Amino acid sequence: MIIKRRKTRVIKVGKLKIGGANPILVQSMTKNKIENLKNIKSEIKELINCNCEIIRLAIPKRNSINYLKSLMNEKVFSVPIVADIHFDYKLALDCLDIGVDCVRINPGNIGNKKRLAEIIKKAEQKKAAIRIGVNSGSIEKRILNKNNGNIVESMVESILENVRFFENLGFYNFKISAKASSVLDTVNVYEILSEKINYPLHVGITEAGTLMRGSIKSSVGMGILLAKGIGDTIRVSLTGKSTDEVKAGYLILNSLNLRNFGVDIISCPTCGRTQVDLINFAHRIEDATKNIKKGLKVAVMGCIVNGPGEAKEADIGIAFGKKKAAIFVKGKILKRLDINNILEEFVKELYKIV
Ligand code: SF4
Repeated sequence: MIIKRRKTRVIKVGKLKIGGANPILVQSMTKNKIENLKNIKSEIKELINCNCEIIRLAIPKRNSINYLKSLMNEKVFSVPIVADIHFDYKLALDCLDIGVDCVRINPGNIGNKKRLAEIIKKAEQKKAAIRIGVNSGSIEKRILNKNNGNIVESMVESILENVRFFENLGFYNFKISAKASSVLDTVNVYEILSEKINYPLHVGITEAGTLMRGSIKSSVGMGILLAKGIGDTIRVSLTGKSTDEVKAGYLILNSLNLRNFGVDIISCPTCGRTQVDLINFAHRIEDATKNIKKGLKVAVMGCIVNGPGEAKEADIGIAFGKKKAAIFVKGKILKRLDINNILEEFVKELYKIV
C-alpha cells in the first residue's frame, strides 16, 4: 500500500519548505529553561544530532528573548526555530524582530484580533511563518459556549475563523495545529480540517504521556491520520526527553514508509525455540547503530528456521541457532559464524552496507 498524501499549500519556515510533496518533517520542543544556557545549548545540539528538523522553544517572558538572541548570535541553531508564545503578543513581535523563523501562537490566549493583526504584519515584514496552534485545553470561551462545549466543533471553528482572518490580511505563510489529548478528537478535528483547508498541518497528540504511553498514543493517532495522507510535520509530545520525541517521530514515519531514516530493527518476539539472549542482543544492536542516519532495515531473529524467511525485507539480518548464527542479506544467507564475537562481526558487516 502506498500512502497518497493530501495536497497542501507549500509554506516556508526558514530554509525549509513545508507542505505539498515535501517530506513530512520531524519537530520537537526543548525542555530546558531558556535562561539555563548551558543545558539548553546541549539539548539543542543533541536534537540536531538526532536529526530534529525544526526546534521550538518556549518564550515565556520578556527576559527570555535576550537568551534566545544570544543563542541565535552564537549560531547554535542549524535548523529553523519556532518561538512558542502564549498570552503576550508583544513577545511574538520581539521574537520576529530578532529573526526567528516562525512564531507559534494560540488564538485562544493571544488577545484580540488587533494584536493578532500586528503579529501577522510583522511576520509578513520579516518573511517569517506563523503556526496557528489551537489546543483542546485553551479554546476561546466564546467559541466553546457557542458550540455547547463540543471540543471538536469548537476547535474546527476556532481554526477556520483564524484562517479567514489571516487570509483577509493577505497572509498565507502559516501552518496549523489542532491538538487534543484525546486521540479520537484529534483525528476527528484533523480529518475535518483537511477537507476544508489546504494549509500544511502539523500533527500531534498533545500531553500524550510518558515514553511508552505517549509513543503508543501518538503512534495510534498520528498513524490513522498519516495513513490517510494527512500531516506535513509531526511532533510526538512526550513527558520525557526531547530526543526521544524525535526518535519516536522517525519510527512512526518509517513504519508507514513516509520517511526512511536511521536503522529500523526488525526483531522477533522470541519464543520457546530461541537459544540465545536475543532481547539483550537486539538492544546492543540498537545501541551500536543509533548514530546511523541512512535508512536501513536490520533483522534480529531468534532462529534459523524462520529467521531469514520472516525478515526478507531487511537489508541485513542475523538469525541464531544453538551455537551458531547466520548473517543474511535481503533474505539470502551471506555467512555462517560461530556465536563468539558475533556482535562485532555482525556490526562490521552492517557498516559495510552503510
Ligand atoms: S524467529 Fe524463531 S525464535 Fe524468533 S519468534 Fe520466530 S520462531 Fe521463535
